[in-house]
Amino acid sequence: MSERSLVSLDEISVERLRGVGPKRLAALGEVGIRSVFDLLSTYPRRYLDRTRRVDVADLAVGDEAAVFAQVVRVRARRTRQGRSLVEISVADEGGSLSVVFFNQPWRERQLREGTWALFYGRVNDYRGGRQMSNPVVDVAVGVDESRDVARVGRVVALYPASARAGVTSWEIGGLIEESLRRAGSLVDPLPGPERERLGLGDRSTSLRAIHLPERLEDVEPARRRLAFDEFLRVQLLLALGRRHARAAARAVIHPFVPDDLAGRTSSALSRFLGEHPFTLTAAQRRVLEEIGRDMSASEPMHRLLQGDVGAGKTLVATAALVICLDGEHQGAVMAPTEVLAEQHLASLRRDLGGLLVRDERVLGAQRGVVVELLSGRTRAAERRRILAGLAEGSVDVVIGTHALLSEDVSFSALGLIVIDEQHRFGVEQRAVLREKGRAHSREGRDPDVLVMTATPIPRTAAMVVFGDLERSVLDELPGGRQPVSTTWREDEADVWHTVRAHVAAGHQAYVVCPLVEGSDVIEATGAVAEHARLGAGALAGLRVGLLHGQMPATERDEVMGLFRSGSLDVLVATVVIEVGVDVPNATIIVIEDAWRFGLAQLHQLRGRVGRGEAAGECILLGPAPSLEARERLAAVVGTTDGFALAEIDLDLRGQGTLYGSRQQGRSDLRLARLREDEDLLVAAREVAQRLSERVEAVPELLEELRFFVPAEDADYLFKS
Ligand code: ADP
Ligand code: MG
Repeated sequence: MSERSLVSLDEISVERLRGVGPKRLAALGEVGIRSVFDLLSTYPRRYLDRTRRVDVADLAVGDEAAVFAQVVRVRARRTRQGRSLVEISVADEGGSLSVVFFNQPWRERQLREGTWALFYGRVNDYRGGRQMSNPVVDVAVGVDESRDVARVGRVVALYPASARAGVTSWEIGGLIEESLRRAGSLVDPLPGPERERLGLGDRSTSLRAIHLPERLEDVEPARRRLAFDEFLRVQLLLALGRRHARAAARAVIHPFVPDDLAGRTSSALSRFLGEHPFTLTAAQRRVLEEIGRDMSASEPMHRLLQGDVGAGKTLVATAALVICLDGEHQGAVMAPTEVLAEQHLASLRRDLGGLLVRDERVLGAQRGVVVELLSGRTRAAERRRILAGLAEGSVDVVIGTHALLSEDVSFSALGLIVIDEQHRFGVEQRAVLREKGRAHSREGRDPDVLVMTATPIPRTAAMVVFGDLERSVLDELPGGRQPVSTTWREDEADVWHTVRAHVAAGHQAYVVCPLVEGSDVIEATGAVAEHARLGAGALAGLRVGLLHGQMPATERDEVMGLFRSGSLDVLVATVVIEVGVDVPNATIIVIEDAWRFGLAQLHQLRGRVGRGEAAGECILLGPAPSLEARERLAAVVGTTDGFALAEIDLDLRGQGTLYGSRQQGRSDLRLARLREDEDLLVAAREVAQRLSERVEAVPELLEELRFFVPAEDADYLFKS
């Protein structure tokens, strides 16, 4: 019999399996299982080791255990408080056990006498007897299955069951067993010698072992092999993206030589750095050289500039824009928020103000650099003027939010795209951006792309999320900085006093109002109230401003301007100030209800202070209602190292959150673990790199990739 591909299993409906009629089909559909592929990629959530059988008689108080037993008696009643109580007695050959369910009246119908089921939970002592209360229950479906499952000497996989849809673990297990038998052997896209070298099993064996392990020890090697496949697909996608970018590679070639950095040339960059009030840190100099080299090469740059908050990424990006302008190309800068876009407008107009660019259309063929902002509220006439300027080349740099390139913008000669604070969207969107960039460039050459992020993500996560980019790291803060000291206070006593002390010393403060997930309006209302409360109370007499997302943009600008210029002492704000906002004279930030914020968010917010020479202070305010919240706050207090925090975050929240919004796809990491499987990831990256050069030679893998990656996101990759 010929081998089947994994993908072809998606064409076989579960209806073809024994016992699946329209009703079962609907129930399975409700838990997302439609095809044999869906079935086989539903992985067990745990295993019941019946090779070492647990008998009811062996259960001791305090054990957390799963027993397979038959219901022998059912009794339903109400407690004195009026709660529903279902008491059952279960038994196997050797003994019996009492099981109770509170507030689950339907158990009476589900667990009728004679039913075999698995009961998983902790054994308590109840009036001298052993009892499980509210255990997890998996009901065995038919007599056949019960006998089968009850059989000693097997490892039984337990699947995510759904009581609502009426799908039990046993049912899934039974269907999987049948599917595996009927599917026969599967094509393995990973060549044999490659498997051998990596010490991984083949796909058919591994898939069988994860579902039907002979022994528990067989599970982990199987999981690793299948996890490798998950990594391989992601890495292959990234490698193909890189290959694709290179193949089409005709990049804009920007003027840069390393001597520009030493001020030994007469280039615009050399002059810019010589005249700028700051001296570059060694790290800024190093990454700028990396960027400059990329920009002057004929291959397009796709570089990630990673640097902790306050490391000085803006200056590096500005210098890259200077190189771009010097070569008579235009730049586009994208920011995640309007507040940040507005800040970039001000800082670029200031920093690029002295620069002259060639323009044959003006007298003397030279003029000052023109920087414009396109935002959602740019008036129609203004917008037309800017768009026309970009198209004909009289506007040199345009700033906008991430929507910028998806709009109807055309450039005369786009040379560089800078994306600031990108941590919210993924590989596919970046690829789309590049495609658009190419379409926008005059000579059909690719603009260079510089992506910046302050979200320090762990190395392994970076390989998955930013694996299509070269990486530069700003690992040094500008001189004279002192680390921000962070404390956590459950109540606000003293807090406002501390804020007043900072203001008295000539500095400024942020007060961040509680996050209200999903409602900007409620959040804004909270900020308005807090502004009023503090202004009339604890901070009376200070100049207290208010900033939130519901304010008209002009008003927002005005407030930000006042704060920037030092005309406000305190800024009461919502999370709109989370990223990028740079006011070096602000030295203290109070974050109210700090537990509501994520770890990365807290780190970002804290990064708003400690940006000048004076010491910064961060106060996390409010109690922590859960252990997880407590750990999160303790972590922020414990370290200012963004990378360390990122590792902790990954541990606390799991990897699912890394991908942002679209994480329910087939290309998810279901079995792979970013922390523990780093070796697999590194190996997968290396294999992907090699295979991507001759991917046409492994059609099975290509077919699989097409299947796993939604076409609309990556279609271009498959066109050669
Ligand atoms: P981020 O990396 O978080 O975007 P910024 O670019 O906003 O950081 O820089 C943080 C602060 O450090 C800003 O106030 C900026 O003006 C200042 N800064 C940047 N580079 C230097 C430098 N080489 N020397 C002194 N201050 C600098
Ligand atoms: Mg920044």
